[in-house]
Amino acid sequence: MSAPLLGQMMDVPLTLPSLIAHAARHHGSAQIVSRRIEGDIHRYTYRECEARSKQLAQALIALGVAPGERVGTLAWNGYRHLEAYFGVTGFGAVCHTINPRLFPEQIAWIVNHADDRYVLFDITFAALVDTLAPQCPNVRGWIALCDESHRPPMRTQVLCYETLLAAQDGRYTWPELDERSASNLCYTSGTTGNPKGALYTHRSSVLHAYAAALPDAMGFSALDAILPVVPMFHVNAWGIPHAAPLAGTKLVLPGKDLDGKSLYELMEAEGVTASAGVPTVWLGLLAYMRGAGVRFSTLNRTVIGGSACPPAMLRAFEDEYGVQVIHAWGMTEMSPLGTLSKLNWAQSKRPREAQRALLEKQGRVIFGVDMKIVGEDGRELPWDGVTFGDLHVRGPWVIDRYFRQESGSPLVEGWFPTGDVATIDPDGFLHITDRSKDVIKSGGEWISSIDLENIAVAHPAIAEAACIACAHPRWTERPLIVAVKRPGAAVTREELLAFFEGKVAKWWLPDDAVFVDELPHTATGKLQKLKLREQFRAYVLPTALAVEGCPFDPAQDAAKRG
Ligand code: ADP
Repeated sequence: MSAPLLGQMMDVPLTLPSLIAHAARHHGSAQIVSRRIEGDIHRYTYRECEARSKQLAQALIALGVAPGERVGTLAWNGYRHLEAYFGVTGFGAVCHTINPRLFPEQIAWIVNHADDRYVLFDITFAALVDTLAPQCPNVRGWIALCDESHRPPMRTQVLCYETLLAAQDGRYTWPELDERSASNLCYTSGTTGNPKGALYTHRSSVLHAYAAALPDAMGFSALDAILPVVPMFHVNAWGIPHAAPLAGTKLVLPGKDLDGKSLYELMEAEGVTASAGVPTVWLGLLAYMRGAGVRFSTLNRTVIGGSACPPAMLRAFEDEYGVQVIHAWGMTEMSPLGTLSKLNWAQSKRPREAQRALLEKQGRVIFGVDMKIVGEDGRELPWDGVTFGDLHVRGPWVIDRYFRQESGSPLVEGWFPTGDVATIDPDGFLHITDRSKDVIKSGGEWISSIDLENIAVAHPAIAEAACIACAHPRWTERPLIVAVKRPGAAVTREELLAFFEGKVAKWWLPDDAVFVDELPHTATGKLQKLKLREQFRAYVLPTALAVEGCPFDPAQDAAKRG
């Protein structure tokens, strides 16, 4: 075969430092505003951000960090954390963002597994670092993200970030890196078993940033001011810290105060136009706004993902506050963006309710991701909007394997099995119905726990709800609703169950509902169904007791199911 005719374009690698270099050179005066742990508002520009990122790179090189080595972070959304995003990756080291909300033992396990050389930490995590340090003997140093005057009293010997930076002149040229070299490391939350590491490349991160910035994705523009509520320790804040400098977008970083009032005030003060976060934080913001009787003056859209956005929340944002909701689905293994709910031209001409039905789903893939649903035999299932299947994906920002699990690829015939169960409709809109572990199997058919949860939280007296499978002698499993009431609200079990009637097929109607004060959540704010199922392991559904002549010990049966 003859050699291919090669194109004649520059072979410029796609690397992360090029993003901050671009922003510094072409959007140099665009602002980065941070609410600091120290309590005040800090304000500077992309130009200053790049300069300090270079100082950080110099400081880490001076400390002996080599390209390819990992540097951990335990930090909120703030300008110093952003400097780590570029200062660490810019000379070829790997920025490993760690979720500080995990249990200390889990964090220590992750730090040791990642083999972090240094860990940068916000001073709010001083006590946590004191706990971690003795368990992480390979960490050469812990660096407090503050100046000398804010150095916290600690048992551990720590370095001071500002002192390290002050010793460097910032005269540094980003080296040319291999675009396939590792840039960032994020661990999955590990609700079962140990967390697993997704090791992104410079190339995958830059491509993901381009995609995130597309108008039908998060739609980044230099006209925007974006406030990522999603933490920078949660899958790189969904790529926002990369996409914002790509587009020259003003960044507003909220620090540690993520309550409704603090977020609202910062959004208003900084003219924020776009935001992004998990449903739980928006519950707090909406509750605050309703209570205080205030409205947004600049916010026009928000991306909601990480768990299913209840339609009631989507409607509240749109109808009460005129804010567009973009429902997004993704996962750590996908950098994380997969799909976003944006209408196309033809869909935008449909009646409002039909549009809403589409927007409530998780949406269409962005270029760079392909998806399919498969049955138990691995065969692809139709896109008819009703057939459920295991969701598989592939693309240049989807993992090929897990970090330090070199043997054993998670892929199935070149596709990554997400562990989610979904339908895809003829429009190509994805609808996640469950994690495969959470799906309720009733008489051989599947019931979507997410759909039932969405209905429960649409009840005005319900703040939050989870739907789990309960053992049933006839149907194997039937749905049980576990709900938290809004403060001061009253609703009975019967009223809540009646609320489902007419909204789903009869055989989907929950068999029972119970009220609790609180639902268990993971460190990333998702419902912890495994824990909840354990809590309700011995629960006997009234419909199970009613099954005539069926010798059944639900407690035993539940124990069998694990
Ligand atoms: P992330 O950190 O982006 O939340 P994780 O890896 O922790 O990613 O979790 C990914 C899982 O979260 C997905 O596989 C899916 O089960 C769930 N998820 C994420 N977004 C949504 C969504 N919009 N609707 C339903 N489930 C979602």
